[in-house]
Amino acid sequence: MEIRRQIEVSGIVQGVGFRPYVYRLAIGRQLSGTIRNTPAGVTIEIQGAAETVQDFVEHLPAEAPPLARITNLSIHDVPCTRDGDFRIVHSLEQEEVRTLISPDVAICPDCLCELFDPNDRRYGYPFINCTNCGPRFTIIRDIPYDRPSTSMARFPMCPTCLAEYENPLDRRFHAQPNACWECGPRVELWDKSGQRIECRDPIAEAVSQLHAGLVVAVKGLGGFHLAADATNAAAVALLRQRKRRVEKPFAVMVPDLRAAEEICELDGPARIVLQSMQRPIVLLKKVLLKKVQLGTKASSMVPDEVAPFNRYLGVFLPYTPLHNLLLAKGRFKALVMTSGNLSEEPIAIDNDEAVTRLSGLADYFLVHNRDILLRCDDSVVRVASGVTRQLRRSRGFVPVPVLLKDDQPSVLAVGGELKNTICLTKGKHAFLSQHIGDLENVESYAFFNEAVGHLKRILEIHPEIIAYDLHPDYFSSKWALQQSGAKLIGVQHHHAHIASCMAENHLEGRVIGFALDGTGYGTDGHIWGGEVLTAGYETFERAAHFEYVPMPGGEAAIREPWRMAVSYLAHHFGREFLGLSIPFVRQLDTAKTELLVRMIEHKVNSPLTSSCGRLFDGVAALIGIRRTVNYEAQAAIELEMTISMSEDETAYPLELLPDGDGWIIGTRPLFEALLDDLGRNLPVAVISRRFHNGLVEGFVQLATLLRKKTALHSVCLSGGTFHNVYLSQRLEARLLGAGFEVFTQKEVPSGDGGLSLGQAAVAAANFTCRIRNSYPQDCQAGPCVRLDTHIDRLIGVTRRRTASADP
Ligand SMILES: [Zn+2]
Ligand SMILES: [Zn+2]
Repeated sequence: MEIRRQIEVSGIVQGVGFRPYVYRLAIGRQLSGTIRNTPAGVTIEIQGAAETVQDFVEHLPAEAPPLARITNLSIHDVPCTRDGDFRIVHSLEQEEVRTLISPDVAICPDCLCELFDPNDRRYGYPFINCTNCGPRFTIIRDIPYDRPSTSMARFPMCPTCLAEYENPLDRRFHAQPNACWECGPRVELWDKSGQRIECRDPIAEAVSQLHAGLVVAVKGLGGFHLAADATNAAAVALLRQRKRRVEKPFAVMVPDLRAAEEICELDGPARIVLQSMQRPIVLLKKVLLKKVQLGTKASSMVPDEVAPFNRYLGVFLPYTPLHNLLLAKGRFKALVMTSGNLSEEPIAIDNDEAVTRLSGLADYFLVHNRDILLRCDDSVVRVASGVTRQLRRSRGFVPVPVLLKDDQPSVLAVGGELKNTICLTKGKHAFLSQHIGDLENVESYAFFNEAVGHLKRILEIHPEIIAYDLHPDYFSSKWALQQSGAKLIGVQHHHAHIASCMAENHLEGRVIGFALDGTGYGTDGHIWGGEVLTAGYETFERAAHFEYVPMPGGEAAIREPWRMAVSYLAHHFGREFLGLSIPFVRQLDTAKTELLVRMIEHKVNSPLTSSCGRLFDGVAALIGIRRTVNYEAQAAIELEMTISMSEDETAYPLELLPDGDGWIIGTRPLFEALLDDLGRNLPVAVISRRFHNGLVEGFVQLATLLRKKTALHSVCLSGGTFHNVYLSQRLEARLLGAGFEVFTQKEVPSGDGGLSLGQAAVAAANFTCRIRNSYPQDCQAGPCVRLDTHIDRLIGVTRRRTASADP
């Protein structure tokens, strides 16, 4: 008996080869019916023998093309018709809106084969792609997503390409960026003045410049990279010097897994992520470290200059055909591929813009004439214990939405100041933007504006609410406060971190939240950063926090961790600390220290902070790891890197001092124990481990107290400090051991890159809740008070110019 079913499919199902896939699936089973694009996705009608139709329905999601992402399938019985065959029905153009847009995707295995096949008509063609791979997000000007709305509009297809494009059985059916040598974009090599260099093979010419130790700017998918031979220490040093990037690690692109394995430790999950179609930068443990531990002579193909003082290396595989050709032609073992920018600016995307901005950095430019319409940096992930965690969610992942538990009102959340992302919500979807970066220069502001406008347009979202950080000095907050036509809701920084973790994990109700990071504006006007909250989406209570200490010199204390070490010592021991017989004190500059101690004593330019990041800084400086930093969180990262991999379970004690309804986490006993160990000349590796252990034990103790008091047993961990693998893993394990349910962030960064999601969740909850008019409920320093009264207090403190967000 024949039946007919209507199947509505929503998700990313347009422009990803979904209709030809369904066509083949139906034809293969001799089923009849239709498929057409709809505003929500695609609608299929399928008719045939009941068993065969059932078989079709079961296979439909299972074998979908790699770029498709099905978020919902709804199936109804409909009356049979006399179709006779299966047809792709062309829909009205305007109907093809409001569907999800695919991210940019790495070259697929089929295209890669053709690229290196001398008999293929696209042999060596740097822009080969198909419906399963290639650029999407970064070439879209507008919706609907078809060729005239992309930067491929200027390349009319040749008859052969057009035939592929129109054939439902071809891998390139409706592949909008389809192109070939005949009709598509071309590569050129330019010198640093933007003059085209006459040559037969621009890629081969770029290769020889790289072999000569020079820096070549290479146009990629979401922007330019600066490339240098990673095995050539002098070339890497040259790039560092020109990019004014002293010690911050560079990422390296390697040709394949085997090359990755020669420089890094690779397990199964890491292999999968490296080869995934998103091709993020994966932070992997350097192989070099193993050899050092075994006592053999340290040696690695990749010199130390690439990622100094770091156990990890950022590694990724080539993701465009151009990258593949470059690595293959040069037989490179590894290329440094770092964002094409000066330290804190956004990545360059336009050819002329690149020459203007990067001519002091690069010797040559490998450019092409397919415009990048939206910049999008590489994503960065870490794979630890088989779990992939986003550190920077950008190319390959954006604009795939994060799925929310329930429908939300439409919110635009504008994020924080550093590692900025924005978030737009619609229904159950939260669209996080690509990494916008640190909003501290004109170029970044422009990028921020561009990203907001572009995302609103291509996602067709008109937000009812704009959510922003309470910090009055953040660019994003100032921007939000100038907008009209939407309700404005300011969200406390650490509440947003916990809400981000809750939203990602589809949690409801209230949780215990550990929000640990460097800087966030508190509702009391101080700088928060070591915060334990009890929180839901609507409200939070500050259940505990690290005791306040002064940051002498404000912003300078972030760049110079030795100031924080002095601050902690002076705070806990007064001037007596100057008599301590430890290297840190002996090496202090007497005059500078005196000045600093006086600043602290007289409360001059010394804002108070409960920051966890500053505690790491202070400890790192005190035990001799580093006194000043060259990039954000460098001291904290290096403190983690020194941890001894012993079984030492010793933990420095913290004290929990009752304070009103909650607790203050006192650090005096921790510093006393640490100074004892320093006095006994224990290695920094041991001290670092005991410090980390101390934090974990203190937090577990605190969580247990809070469970007793509140009956909450779910714990959320968020904030930039949780990029620290040792701390995260140990705390999670200990909390699980103590019977807590523990939730962490994976799909969304736990650092400030994930802030916008939490802001959106908090704002949506407060918008829906009609009981209260203002948020936060106990705000003393938020927008309910005049902003300028707080600017003086915090001026400059959070504007970290040492920070730069690209790896
Ligand atoms: Zn392909
Ligand atoms: Zn062609």
